[in-house]
Amino acid sequence: MARPASTLPEDFPEPVFRPLDGHVEIAVAEAAEARMARPRRVTAILAAMCARLGSAEGGADSARRVSAAGREWLLQRAGLEFFRGTRWFEAPCPGCGARFDLELDLTAVPQGRAGAGFPVIEVETSLGARRFEAPNGHHEEAFAARQDGDARRIFAGLCGLADEAAAEVARFEAADLERIDAALEAVSPEIADGVNAACPDCGGPVRVRIDPLTFAFPRPEAVLREVHAIAMAYRWSERAILDLPSRRRRAYVALIAGDGDGRAARPRGGMRLS
Ligand SMILES: [Zn+2]
Repeated sequence: MARPASTLPEDFPEPVFRPLDGHVEIAVAEAAEARMARPRRVTAILAAMCARLGSAEGGADSARRVSAAGREWLLQRAGLEFFRGTRWFEAPCPGCGARFDLELDLTAVPQGRAGAGFPVIEVETSLGARRFEAPNGHHEEAFAARQDGDARRIFAGLCGLADEAAAEVARFEAADLERIDAALEAVSPEIADGVNAACPDCGGPVRVRIDPLTFAFPRPEAVLREVHAIAMAYRWSERAILDLPSRRRRAYVALIAGDGDGRAARPRGGMRLS
């Protein structure tokens, strides 16, 4: 007996994003800075933004079923919805402390496609042949909730497709865990979580980590400030203001501020990477 795999067979499912309005932005902004483990924040952002994920409907359950690398890729794509056209980023140099500008194309972050048979692998273990699925958001969330233990053993238990997977994981030998880990890594898609650069000040090599959660998404206060400005000026209800497409909401805010033709202001300069 075995349970079916829960990981979506599409390694990088093409997202269809919901049109951005205040409701979506508030949900995303609150998820991005919620006091919960990173995998749960990623799930909440993808659930708020994606109407579809490849052949699957949107929603939290689909967002959890995407492979770990697929979720990271979707998070980068989701972040791009908020700063289309921005290519300049500002990153810190750990060597000399200077901040420098870096041109980065987030649509071209290196990806590695899933291996044959994805999302399921079969591994010959000391207990016999066992099947596992490539880690997805369910597994990442469950792993983040664990405080201790060998990560390879925890993932072998979470990703095991045998009915007794959780019970028999304690009996796997170190060599089993090594083989399972290697096979999961081989079949799983990959995505770079950063780029290499050289600091223009000191010339030192810098690994710039790209975590969209730290720079790409709006802050709740920023959206609320716009709601406040429009409510004060026009006396519209909060709901009516949040219903506006985000571009139109920003255009009204610009008009209220007296910025000429009401074209929504874009942030100037590079996005700050932490
Ligand atoms: Zn430097």
